[in-house]
Amino acid sequence: MISTVTLYVDPGHHTNRLQLALLMKFCCQCGSEVELTIPSGDNRPRFVCRQCDFIHYQNPKIVAGCLVTQDDKVLLCKRGIEPRHGFWTLPAGFMENGESTRQAAQRETLEEACAEVSIDGLYTLTSITPIDQIQMIYRATLTKPYYAAGDETLQCGFFSEAEIPWQQLAFETIHNALNFYFEDRKTGDFPLRHIDLHHKKPVR
Ligand SMILES: [Zn+2]
Repeated sequence: MISTVTLYVDPGHHTNRLQLALLMKFCCQCGSEVELTIPSGDNRPRFVCRQCDFIHYQNPKIVAGCLVTQDDKVLLCKRGIEPRHGFWTLPAGFMENGESTRQAAQRETLEEACAEVSIDGLYTLTSITPIDQIQMIYRATLTKPYYAAGDETLQCGFFSEAEIPWQQLAFETIHNALNFYFEDRKTGDFPLRHIDLHHKKPVR
């Protein structure tokens, strides 16, 4: 059973806002019911098994993707899945176990845009605290002159700054990465952009 909730807890003399992306009911070790409690020696609530005392730690997830460029254009994908179905994004997605962030970015680009790329460098690193997510976007270059819409993509293609559907971008992080890129293109210097987003708002 998975759902999204916001809980308000008082672990001491002050009230902390606790956003739980995953509301857990049962222990992944023994299947017994869990309870939300602060383990001894800890300072925040965790789901703890009433039967085997297993503590289920929950930590941020990492999304990795690529800003693939060709001449003055950037590769965009039109999303064929929720959330933000029909909106445009950079090829990106959740890391899998056993891969590096660079490998995750390359794999997502292959899956969503059928494009094989080499990584040029890490470009944006964004912490999105309301959804416990970290997004890492790499600058990348096609290693073969081929791209096409993958299974989760409606269409994809290269867009110049003027051609980008700025009003139909899927996420604020994509908007930021594209803005940074076209700004940095003027100098040819692409420093790492480190961003903290403490809000969650529509991109428009
Ligand atoms: Zn258990």
